Amino acid sequence: MRLSQYPINTLKEVPSDAEVLSHQLMLRAGLIRRLAAGIYTWLPMGLRVLRKVENIVREEMNRAGAHELAMPTIQPAELWAESKRLGDYGPELLRLKDRHDRAFVYGPTHEEVITDIARRELRSYKQLPVNFYQIQIKFRDEIRPRFGVMRAREFLMKDAYSFHIDEASLAHGYRLMFDAYTRIFTRMELKFRAVHADGGSIGGSASQEFHVLADSGEDAIAFSDADDYAANVELAPAVAAAGARPAPVLPLTKVHTPNVKSIADVAAMLKVGAAQCLKTLLVEGSDGGVVALVLRGDHELNAIKAQKIPAVANPLRMASAERIRQVSGSEPGSIGPINFNGRIIVDQAAVQVGDFICGANEKDHHFTGANWGRDLPEPLAADIRNVVAGDPSPSGKGRLQIARGIEVGHVFQLGRKYSHSMNATVLDEHSKPTEMFMGCYGIGITRVVAAAIEQNNDASGILWPEPIAPFQVVLIPMAYQKSQKVREVSDCLYRDLQAQGVEVLFDDRDARPGVKFADAELLGIPHRVVVGERGLESGNLEYRHRRASESSDLPLADAPALIRAKLGAMRSA
Ligand code: ATP
Ligand code: MG
Repeated sequence: MRLSQYPINTLKEVPSDAEVLSHQLMLRAGLIRRLAAGIYTWLPMGLRVLRKVENIVREEMNRAGAHELAMPTIQPAELWAESKRLGDYGPELLRLKDRHDRAFVYGPTHEEVITDIARRELRSYKQLPVNFYQIQIKFRDEIRPRFGVMRAREFLMKDAYSFHIDEASLAHGYRLMFDAYTRIFTRMELKFRAVHADGGSIGGSASQEFHVLADSGEDAIAFSDADDYAANVELAPAVAAAGARPAPVLPLTKVHTPNVKSIADVAAMLKVGAAQCLKTLLVEGSDGGVVALVLRGDHELNAIKAQKIPAVANPLRMASAERIRQVSGSEPGSIGPINFNGRIIVDQAAVQVGDFICGANEKDHHFTGANWGRDLPEPLAADIRNVVAGDPSPSGKGRLQIARGIEVGHVFQLGRKYSHSMNATVLDEHSKPTEMFMGCYGIGITRVVAAAIEQNNDASGILWPEPIAPFQVVLIPMAYQKSQKVREVSDCLYRDLQAQGVEVLFDDRDARPGVKFADAELLGIPHRVVVGERGLESGNLEYRHRRASESSDLPLADAPALIRAKLGAMRSA
């Protein structure tokens, strides 16, 4: 493409409404433009990237034996009533009425439509297993659309659905999709992890998310340094420490701790580590009372784990300061389990601490030398904390590390949920109708583009992985309008490369070299070739990879072949 004939502007300024880097860079590079909250236009440069992502996904889905189809975006609301999701899905579901006052929804996902197809088309177990997929626009009325196309309302998704006669076949189909996803993100040259969405504690893998690792990711991921165990921190189980708790050494002593509110304050004042101090959080109980949750000072409460405990209200609600004063007769900063009048649930790591420090339920006072079983009863222990780096891996191998990730894909064994509610059956070997087992598998195509940028950028702009870059090569002639030699050489090279199927962005604009270099870096084109009069005198062009800090000479005589070799080298590297 000749840039002189492409009218879209890049922006120097960082747009003020863009919080995350990928959003800023996508706007600055002219890949997308916002139309309304969470609704974006993909400009030609951005669409090239989106299509490359889409094509890799399509190729690997086809390789895995899935069949592409295209379902409507608008779906009759009755189908959603049948699956019982019309109410459950809530306000994220965009509901519409047609001129006859019939209720429709704009599809946020397509389990209902595909199950309707399956129950009409599939009659016998002999037609199974089968996997259908589409790459299509979804609409979800997200409560907080943000980060550009990362959490948009309208976005492109690949969604696939598989149908099976039994669980074993479902597990096999799921594995095929897992492997396809692994190939997809590997081909895109992204650093990613497959993460247990159910914590991986049951040993099965009924649901896994694929996360692109990036510091700005919304999710914290715990993964083992010794095997491929990975789970969302929210769900990763903390392994209870083996061995007995240290025996009490110190006597229970009440100490004056004026103006001490946080664990950090307590630890600093008493000159101990935060792990020696236990914090007590009061939450609402399921029976209308309050429950004290006790954790090590250096650990964080995990709301998802805590609210699964029957005595705790679900969803988890912290008790207000007012309520804390009411039930404890003390201040929020001084609560502790000793002489606490109510239910106490203690994190299993906090149970292992001897001679601990805790609030004394008396303003400006703490206990030191407190011990379970001596100064207060042996507590009810549970796993209610987030895992931290260094914890043993639940897989039994290695220790956990924590990284941040962006969820770009999801594979899920649905079982018979939809085939049951929507009565999707086939005849089994004994000619008996049986509900099919189902799996569903999504990839956020639009989100992949943003995630790739979050993972691959520098101060000057985007660093596209080669397989999804909008162009492979940017060709920059210096003084194209003035130097006939430069013009001839670059025109000819542009034609040659294009004829050989290389995707070239030809910056033939009448602009200063600095502007062209800055745009090329912002756009993140992997290979840059500069044609300058001075270089031509010695028969050379100048070559530089976007990730390299130095340029090198490229002999003009063999330029097209040498450039092609660099593209090939990148791909096979
Ligand atoms: P999230 O937890 O991020 O809301 P989800 O669990 O709702 O995701 P799925 O229903 O599994 O997502 O959808 C499949 C994929 O679609 C996700 O893995 C994600 O990559 C993408 N996706 C979901 N919601 C959005 C959105 N609002 N904008 C862009 N992509 C999205
Ligand atoms: Mg969601």
